[in-house]
Amino acid sequence: MRVGVLALQGDFALHATALAKCGVEAVEVRKPSELDDVEGLIIPGGESTTLLKLMDAWNFTSAIETFHGAGKPIFGTCAGLIILAREVESPKQFSLGLIDVSVERNAYGRQRESFEASGVASLDAGPIPLEMVFIRAPRIRRVGPSVQVLAEHRGEPVMARQGRVLVATFHPELTDNTTVHRYFCDLVGRAWVAA
Ligand code: GLN
Repeated sequence: MRVGVLALQGDFALHATALAKCGVEAVEVRKPSELDDVEGLIIPGGESTTLLKLMDAWNFTSAIETFHGAGKPIFGTCAGLIILAREVESPKQFSLGLIDVSVERNAYGRQRESFEASGVASLDAGPIPLEMVFIRAPRIRRVGPSVQVLAEHRGEPVMARQGRVLVATFHPELTDNTTVHRYFCDLVGRAWVAA
């Protein structure tokens, strides 16, 4: 099983390291055709406006929609979540709409651009401790009825899933805790077996 990491911009290399810790082969994806060789895709954090421009330049928008349509799981962290959301505010910008959430960019304010927190993920196996690093993070302002909230910070959703789309407002790849990557790899493995 191979999992792709969109390697156009942002901290894609650390996701590859986290996947390796889960025993999964990571593939840096730079061209849409490379999506054919992977069973899941991570869209990393970075700067969503830059990521959108590069995705447009390399024709990734429809390729990722096709990937999702084929039932292959996608995980977006921070800017990756912004790309996958149904609506983006502050300011409004294009997004793929593959998960029914509304997000507000840079919503923790400039003074507190980065912070760390501990939390708990409510996963199938039960509650599991999480370490969360927020960097100029978005906030999830609305969650649709088909979206399952998997973790919260101060009563707000920070990790969520709709079917085969997983999102987090924080950066799990910046900690040694592989809980979130393992959860995603399980999702990819199950989808792959079912395909
Ligand atoms: N602030 C960035 C954006 O709006 C996201 C930051 C991140 O991915 N760490 O795109």
